[in-house]
Amino acid sequence: MSLPAPQANGVEGEATTTLVNNVETTQITTVSTTTTAQILDANPDDIPGELTIINENSASEMDVDVSHEVHQEEQAATFSIAVDNSFQRASSLPVSLEPKYKFGYVYDDAMLLHSPQVDHPEMPARIVQIFSKLRKDGVLKYMKRIPIRNVKKFEVLLVHSEDHWDKVDAIKHMTREDIILSTSYYEHLSLYVCEMTTKSALLSCGGTIEAALAVARGELSRTFAIVRPPGHHAEPEEHMGFCFLNNVAVATRVVQQLTPIKRILILDWDVHHGNGTQRAFYDDPNVLYISLHRFEGGTFYPCGPFGGLDQNGVDEGVGTSVNIPWPSAGMKDGDYIHAFTKIVMPIAMEFAPELVMVSAGFDAADGDDLGGCHVSPGCYAHMMHMLVSLAGGKCVVALEGGYNVEALSNSCLAVARVLIGDSPPEMPPLVASEDATETVWAVAMQQSKYWNTIDVKSCEPKEEYGDDVVSFPELLKLHRQNYLFETLKMVQVPLFPDLEERFNSQVLCSEDVMDKETLVLLVHQFGNLRVELTGAMTCEPNQELSYLIDSTRQLVSWVESKGFSYVEVNTLPKPLNANTPKRSWQELGRELVTYLWDNYIQLSRAKNVIVIGHGPGCAAVMELLAKRTQNLLRHAKAVCMIVGDTEVPEAPSASREMRDWYMSNTFVAVPTGHRLIIEGRVKSKHGMVVQFDEPRPIKLLSRALPSMAEFIEGKLSPPS
Ligand SMILES: [Zn+2]
Repeated sequence: MSLPAPQANGVEGEATTTLVNNVETTQITTVSTTTTAQILDANPDDIPGELTIINENSASEMDVDVSHEVHQEEQAATFSIAVDNSFQRASSLPVSLEPKYKFGYVYDDAMLLHSPQVDHPEMPARIVQIFSKLRKDGVLKYMKRIPIRNVKKFEVLLVHSEDHWDKVDAIKHMTREDIILSTSYYEHLSLYVCEMTTKSALLSCGGTIEAALAVARGELSRTFAIVRPPGHHAEPEEHMGFCFLNNVAVATRVVQQLTPIKRILILDWDVHHGNGTQRAFYDDPNVLYISLHRFEGGTFYPCGPFGGLDQNGVDEGVGTSVNIPWPSAGMKDGDYIHAFTKIVMPIAMEFAPELVMVSAGFDAADGDDLGGCHVSPGCYAHMMHMLVSLAGGKCVVALEGGYNVEALSNSCLAVARVLIGDSPPEMPPLVASEDATETVWAVAMQQSKYWNTIDVKSCEPKEEYGDDVVSFPELLKLHRQNYLFETLKMVQVPLFPDLEERFNSQVLCSEDVMDKETLVLLVHQFGNLRVELTGAMTCEPNQELSYLIDSTRQLVSWVESKGFSYVEVNTLPKPLNANTPKRSWQELGRELVTYLWDNYIQLSRAKNVIVIGHGPGCAAVMELLAKRTQNLLRHAKAVCMIVGDTEVPEAPSASREMRDWYMSNTFVAVPTGHRLIIEGRVKSKHGMVVQFDEPRPIKLLSRALPSMAEFIEGKLSPPS
C-alpha cells in the first residue's frame, strides 16, 4: 500500500454511514498513520487501513469511538508543553519530543465487534465503560497507548492446537444462518459467536501480547490490556466460557520465546478458575499459576475437580499450580487479603518471578451478581499493590471477566491508579471469614509440600483454639502489670467504660498516688518486642531469639528511689473488632490522658507533677498542656519529652503564659542525627533540646535518664 505524507494530526479520514443487515454501520476509512500501517501490514488477512465499527442499538449508551481523537489530543497537549518555549537554550532542549511514559494500556474499539444478538453478560459495553472511566479520571494521561494488532497463528500455536486455531478462524466465514443453526452448540460451551468474533478474539490476544512485550522488553514498566473477549477458560484444545483464545497464556509463551524473561507468575483473581491457563502450564516449572476462585466442591463454573486445592501440576511442573478454592459465594475483602498475605505473596516471593501477569477478572467485585462476592475496588488496589512489589515492578494486567459494568470499571480504575504509582486507599479493619481461614489453612497444608515459606501453623484458624488464644499485646500488658506490682506495688486505675474497653489494664499507679507531694506521669506505648521469625514471610516467632526491650525499668527504679508517686499510661489501644467505631489511636490516647488528669492527678495532693512523654506519648502530653493549661501551670514542675525519630513538638501557642513556661521547663531528648539538629532548626519554642550520642530511639530513655533526672531535681528544688 502507498502511504500519504505523515499528517500533523496523525489520522486523516472520512466516515460514511450505511445500513448492513438492518444494522447501522459506520465505515471509517482511515488513511493510516505510520504505526497503524505497520500493524495492519503485519497480517495479510486484514484490509489495510480499514476499520469497521458497528453501532448496534445498544451502542447508543456507549461512549464509542472517541479514543483516537482523545489520544491525539492528549499527545498534542503534551507536545505543546515541550515546544512552547519562547526562550530556549540549545543545551536545554529535550533530546526527543516524544513524552517519556512508564506505563501503558491497550484498547481498541474493534474489540467491540464481537457482540451478542441478545442480552449477554460478556457485552461490548464492558470495555467501553472501563476506557471511558480511565480517561475521565485522567489516569490515561500517564499511560502510553500501545498499538493493537492481530495475534499471529504461530503465536497461538504456542498454546493451542492447530485444530483449535482452525475452529476459531472458521467463525469468520460463518453465515448468519450458520450462526443461528450453531447456537445450541456454542451455548453448550458457554459461548456466543457473530461474524466478527474471530476479528475481536485475534485483537484481544494480540493486544495482550503487545502489552506483555512492552513490559518484558523494558519499554514500559506496567501495562493494562483492556481487552475482550476474555481468555482464561480457553484450553489448548477448546474454546469455552466466553473465551476463544487464551490471551494471557499465549502472551506468556511469546514473552518466553522473544525475550530473556523465562520465569513468570500468572495470578488469576477472576471469580472463576482459569482452567485453560492452568492446563497450558500444568507441567511447566517456569510458570507459576495461582488462582483464587469459587469452587464449591467442583460445582461452580467451569466445574469438575481441576480447580481443587490438590491440583498442583504434573512432572516438572509439580507445585507450580496453586489453587485457592473458595467453598462458597460471598467472599469479601478480608478473605482475599488473608489469602494474599498467607499464600499468594509468600509463594510468589519464593518463586521470584521475572514478570507478573495478572488474569484480572472483576467478577468477584461487589455488585457482580454472576460472581456473588463482595470485593471492593480498594481491595483490588491492595492486591495490585502487593503484586507490583514483585519482579521489579514488571507487571501486566489483562482483563478477563467482570459483568457489572459499574463495579467493573470502578475496580479497573482502582487497579490502574496503583499501576501508575498511586498508593492504595486506606481500608477499614479487615477480618477473614471462617470459610476463608479454613480454606487458606487447607491450602497452606497442601502447598507446604512444595514451598518452604508456607507456614502451616501461622495459617491455622484462631477458632481452632477458641478461648485459648492470647494476643501478644495482651501478654505484654500482663507482664507489665506484674512487673509494676512487684516493684512499686502499682495497681490498675479504673476507667470510664468506653475507655476501659480499649485501655483495660494499661493505666497503672502506685498505691500512694493521692498522697505524695511529687508525682511522675509517664505517657508511652509500652512494648518493643524484638521478634526473630522462623522463616521469611511467616508469622511464627523464633522464641529463643525473641525478646522484649523494656526501656522504662531504670526510670521506675529512679522514681522508687526518690519516693515519688507514679502513674504510667500506655496509649496504644486494644485492637478494634469489626463493630467498633473507627477512631485513631492518637485521638483515643489523647482522650485517655486528659481523662486521667481530670479524674485522678489534679485531685491528688501532689504539688509537683512531672510529665514525661515517650515516643508516640509526646503528642498526648502536648494535647494535655493545651487543654488543661491553667491547671498544669499550677501543678507541673517539668515536662520531659523523649523524642524518637519524629518531629520535636513546639510550645503550645494558644496561651502566652504556657508558651513561656514550656520554653524554660521542658527537657527534650533527641537521638543522634535527629533532623532538627542536622538542619539547625532548634529554637527556644522547642524547650531545652539535648542530643544524646545514641542513634537508637529505643535506648534513648536509659541514655538520657541521668541528665533528665538532674533537670527534674533542679526544677523541684530551684537554687535559692
Ligand atoms: Zn470469571
